[in-house]
Amino acid sequence: MSLERRISLSCPQCQIEREVTVWDSLNAQVSPHAKDELLRGNINMFRCSECSFGTSIAVGLMYHDMGLKFVAQYLPFQLIEDDDEATFRSFRSNGSLIMEFPRLIPAQEQASYMLHPHIVFRMSELVRYITYREKLALFHLTGST
Ligand SMILES: [Zn+2]
Repeated sequence: MSLERRISLSCPQCQIEREVTVWDSLNAQVSPHAKDELLRGNINMFRCSECSFGTSIAVGLMYHDMGLKFVAQYLPFQLIEDDDEATFRSFRSNGSLIMEFPRLIPAQEQASYMLHPHIVFRMSELVRYITYREKLALFHLTGST
């Protein structure tokens, strides 16, 4: 499942307000175009068309690849530094994310790997983790022993 929403943000530099698309969840198979944009560093980025100021938007992003069977969760580190209670409540003391399957996902699609997302604290690290998993999958697929 992919989850995107439109929000209004004011440019920190010129104060002009504009609408941007924010992704909370991105499924590689459901939204391949958004996945390409993520790899190019264009997801959850604010770019002002007036003054060209650019910055990342500090929202978490869950990435799900159903083909390679992994989930990775980007968590803005600012939330940890700020002692954000809602964030702390969503993790166990061992560092694992408390996952709740949306009711929309049928039971047979609720694979156990989905319960153990890989946690990253930078969007660039999310991109690197995806690249790492894809290259490993390709390497092992193409017949090395
Ligand atoms: Zn601006």
